[in-house]
Amino acid sequence: MKRLDLAFDTHKDRAAPAAAEARVALAQTGPVNLTGLTQDELAAFLVESGIAEPRQARMRADQIWGWMHKRGVTDFAAMSNIAKETRAALAERFVLNRPSILERRQSTDGVVKWLLGLSPGAEAETVFIPDVGRSGALCVSSQVGCTLTCRFCHTGTQPLVRNLTAGEIVAQCLIARDDLDEWTAEPDARRLSNIVFMGMGEPLYNLDAVARAIDILSHHEGLGISRRRITVSTSGVAPKIPELGARTGAMLAISLHAVEDGLRDELVPINRAYPIKDLMAAIRAYPGLSNARRVTFEYVMLKGVNDSPAEARALVRLLAGVPAKINLIPFNPWPGSPYECASPATIRTFADIVNRAGYASPIRTPRGRDILAACGQLRSESTKERASDRRRRERETAEG
Ligand code: SAH
Ligand code: SF4
Repeated sequence: MKRLDLAFDTHKDRAAPAAAEARVALAQTGPVNLTGLTQDELAAFLVESGIAEPRQARMRADQIWGWMHKRGVTDFAAMSNIAKETRAALAERFVLNRPSILERRQSTDGVVKWLLGLSPGAEAETVFIPDVGRSGALCVSSQVGCTLTCRFCHTGTQPLVRNLTAGEIVAQCLIARDDLDEWTAEPDARRLSNIVFMGMGEPLYNLDAVARAIDILSHHEGLGISRRRITVSTSGVAPKIPELGARTGAMLAISLHAVEDGLRDELVPINRAYPIKDLMAAIRAYPGLSNARRVTFEYVMLKGVNDSPAEARALVRLLAGVPAKINLIPFNPWPGSPYECASPATIRTFADIVNRAGYASPIRTPRGRDILAACGQLRSESTKERASDRRRRERETAEG
């Protein structure tokens, strides 16, 4: 049976458009997966499917939503405060399944990487990076593959297969919480405390789904991960940066990697469309920037390419006046990668220059390199299905 994952526009959370969307989705064959729905949309689905009267739909939606996002339940039968017949009706129309875990690997340093099986043949990776103490960050993917081709990035060698739906982004967090076994833990005892959109793909090229997922993940009646603990990293899609701020209120990270256009054009080719000057203007206008809410600049340290003291000084000049923190990322190699990592001494000299200018400049300790889970090492084997193959598969599914 075909399963539907829904990708709504985040602004459409009022009842009327949600009802129209619900009608369309319910008219398709197969059960609808509820993981990517807001509470308002879920209420509309309950009404449109005849499971709840309009008057009680919101209350019912809140109950179901709480079971899904606060308790991690994947089976309607477990929703003990809902009548048995209603649970059976829900199970006929809807599903709460997670993507399948095709592979789980754990690094010697505690990092965990899951390879997830999504709908036909698409696979994406998610990584959990435990921090010292109880906290930790989940690095989620927003796309399978990437349209961009940053030269130092393994994901960039995998052409875009497709955008992930909001439900698939949310499901990455649900799977991590299942695996870490912390649905019943007290909020401060949870290790999954932060979310970073630093996995596969360019989040600003899938902003509708990313914004909707952030609405769901940050909701206080669900996982409740505050927007200040959610960071979205972009390679520099300047025109989308204001919209990211307005729609999500998430923390911003920029993959800068070079301080002048010539080199950035080569390393991060999107720079040819949105050069550094335009990018910096968009960053300066990001809502709510302050010393407590800084932009993170990511700077991968490539031996002999972008690691000189002169570049460190130019970086300081470029960021003047921006509340910023600079994350220096030692280059993580991958099979066939064309660069080498700068030496520890060079990285330290670079960090000292930036630090003396008043910017925090932590050197990111590579985590999960042994399982290819570190920054820029993610990739899956999925390829985009050719249109003719897709039509054949759909014909075969319909016939069989
Ligand atoms: N597409 C988004 C989100 C990915 S974040 C973006 O580019 O920002 C992944 C981070 O790791 C980015 O800062 C990226 O530039 C960096 N990165 C990519 N390849 C890397 C590598 N081989 N070593 C270290 N960092 C890398
Ligand atoms: Fe895509 Fe980001 Fe990798 Fe560039 S660094 S290829 S934008 S995932």
